[in-house]
Amino acid sequence: MPAMFYVIAEPCIGVKDGACADVCPTQCIQTTDESSQYYIDADLCIDCRACELVCPVNAIFSLYDLPEQWAGYTWINAHFYGKTKGTPPAGAEL
Ligand code: SF4
Ligand code: SF4
Repeated sequence: MPAMFYVIAEPCIGVKDGACADVCPTQCIQTTDESSQYYIDADLCIDCRACELVCPVNAIFSLYDLPEQWAGYTWINAHFYGKTKGTPPAGAEL
């Protein structure tokens, strides 16, 4: 079984309140002022679920619960950290 980690998907866009980053014990949730959402670095995520519990818009999913229509967010989260994971969404800048 591959390592479990969490992914931030589309509902974060427009909210981006940082609640998840405040509770993450490994500081693996980050963003920039220019970014439309927060992102999780899967390599540092310890699967504690703290972020998922505090998100006001249910934007955070474990890899295995990520809805199909947001599957590309695995790639989007990794891409923020200069890493490659999952499959790019259609139209993504590679
Ligand atoms: S599951 Fe835990 S370690 Fe992983 S991103 Fe969320 S708060 Fe951070
Ligand atoms: S708690 Fe949810 S809405 Fe807030 S920054 Fe994190 S993922 Fe985005």
